[in-house]
Amino acid sequence: MKTIGLIGGMSWESTAQYYALINRETARRRGGLHSAPILLDSLDFAEIEALQAQGDWARAGERLAASGRRLETAGAEMLVLTTNTMHIVAPSIEAATTVPFLHIADPTADSLIEDGAQTVGLLGTRFTMEMDFYKDRLRQRGLDTIVPEVDRTNLDGIIYNELCRGIVNDASRSIYIEAIDRLGARGADAIILGCTELGLLISDDDSPLPVYDTTALHAKSAVARALG
Ligand code: GLU
Repeated sequence: MKTIGLIGGMSWESTAQYYALINRETARRRGGLHSAPILLDSLDFAEIEALQAQGDWARAGERLAASGRRLETAGAEMLVLTTNTMHIVAPSIEAATTVPFLHIADPTADSLIEDGAQTVGLLGTRFTMEMDFYKDRLRQRGLDTIVPEVDRTNLDGIIYNELCRGIVNDASRSIYIEAIDRLGARGADAIILGCTELGLLISDDDSPLPVYDTTALHAKSAVARALG
C-alpha cells in the first residue's frame, strides 16, 4: 500500500476524522490489523485563517506547497489536502510536487454522477460557496451547483467559530437544515458537505436531501488509490 501524505490541521478536528476514516477503510479492505501508512503535516490553522481573511492566497499557497514538499521528501506517494477551501491553492501544491494530488472535488463528483445527481447544493465556507474554484471543477464534470442565497455569513461563521473548535450544537444544525431545505426548493437534488468539518454536524439522517460528505469520500478514494 502506498504512503498517503496528509496536508492537515485546517482544522485539526477534520484531520482527525481523515486519520480515522483512512485507517478504518484500510482495515475494512485489507482485514486483520492492517492500517494505513500515513504521513501527516499538520499546520497551525490560526496562521492559515489569517491569510484567508487577508485574501493572501499567494502566501497561503506557498505555505501549503512547502507542506506538500515536506511530505514528498519524507516519502509520501500521494497528497491529500484535508480542507475544501484551501483547494483554492491546489495549483501551487501541484506545481511544487511530483506525486499525485488527489483533489477533493473529484471523488465527490464521481459519487454524485454515479447516483444521477444533476443540480447540487454546495455548502461550505464563504470562499467555497462564493469563489469559482470548486464550482468550476464540478461544472467540468457536468454538474450544476447552487449555493445559499441568504445565510452564507451565518453558515460560514458556524464553521470557523464552532466546528473548527470542536463545538457541535443543535441550533446550528437547524440553521444548516433550513439552508438545505431552501436549496431543495430551488432545485437541488443533492447536497455537498463542501467543508471537511460539516460531517461533524450533519448526516443523511438529519438532512431532507441526500448529503455527500467530502471528508468521507476523499478519505475513501485515497485508500482506493493507495491500494492501487
Ligand atoms: N475545513 C474547512 C473546509 O473544508 C474549512 C476550514 C478552512 O478554511 O480550511 O473548507
